[in-house]
Amino acid sequence: MAKILVTGGAGYIGSHTVQFLLRAGHDVTVADSLVRGFAHNVPPGLLRQVDLTDTPSLIPLLDGVDAVIHFAAYIAVGESTKLPELHFWNNSAGSISLLNAMAQTGVSKIVFSSTAAVYGTVDVSPLPETLPMAPENPYGESKATVERILDWMDRCRGIRSVRLRYFNACGAEPGLGIGEEHDPETHLIPLIFRAIESGKPITVFGNDYPTLDGTCIRDYVHVSDLATAHLAALNWLSSGGATGAYNCGTGHGHSVLEVIRAVEEATGRTVPYVVGPRREGDPARLVADATRLKTQLGWTPRYTDLREIVRTAWEFEQFRLARRSA
Ligand code: UDP
Repeated sequence: MAKILVTGGAGYIGSHTVQFLLRAGHDVTVADSLVRGFAHNVPPGLLRQVDLTDTPSLIPLLDGVDAVIHFAAYIAVGESTKLPELHFWNNSAGSISLLNAMAQTGVSKIVFSSTAAVYGTVDVSPLPETLPMAPENPYGESKATVERILDWMDRCRGIRSVRLRYFNACGAEPGLGIGEEHDPETHLIPLIFRAIESGKPITVFGNDYPTLDGTCIRDYVHVSDLATAHLAALNWLSSGGATGAYNCGTGHGHSVLEVIRAVEEATGRTVPYVVGPRREGDPARLVADATRLKTQLGWTPRYTDLREIVRTAWEFEQFRLARRSA
């Protein structure tokens, strides 16, 4: 059993990881500003409401902590292009503040939520970690900056890190009442559900990409598999593993139209959609080469079928709607 501080544990991936940490018997504290996260995602008694840029308030939370899992961040790419300073402050400065507090308290292990967005647009598929980081939006840059700082924190301060570069997180762990909910919602699968519920068509962002059906291809990875990747990363660091970056995806890509079809098959409902223009900054194809995570850290994703993944997301959607009308 280890004592783990989870920043951003009231968010989507963070709250799932907290559940898996608890199941594994760890002692968990959640630090979350609740600006984007939800208190209802955190089991009673674990939540400390704190802003990561407030370094002094982090010091007591790090007392006796073995490792930090650092999710807290703003994630909307569109927002980051309009308000880059917000993303650099919250994501990069917040991380520096956390690392400052870790250095002061002697906590020397951190698992960091990074993103496929650090690669930018590359004509390679699947993407290996050996590609250079070349983000194309402030969100990706805010994460790439922290990745580089983490390297220096290891070299100069002995703080070792695992950076998990998430591809497209989706789905929900069944039966927990936690899942993907953002405000405003910008992600594909929840927006497809909204289209089913409202009858208002979702817009497919472009069908003139150089892919089989012309729509963008992404690597949709189940959030519970992302959660277990964090436990594998903790094990790696606890057993003396070196600092490194790891892609977190299934290695299989699906187009937007394939996702729509999978939702129709999983839910038995028709998805109304229209095709619109491309969304700025969307690469045609982002698929992970996750060999390093599987072979070095022993990660085995449980979910391989997109329809099954979507079914778990749909189950959470029913829960969310029931909670809203309760
Ligand atoms: N997408 C879409 N319509 C929407 C939202 C998303 O066609 O209303 C597409 C988007 O262009 C991308 C994929 O769905 O190819 C996944 O987008 P999302 O925003 O969920 O995640 P991202 O890949 O941007 O991290």
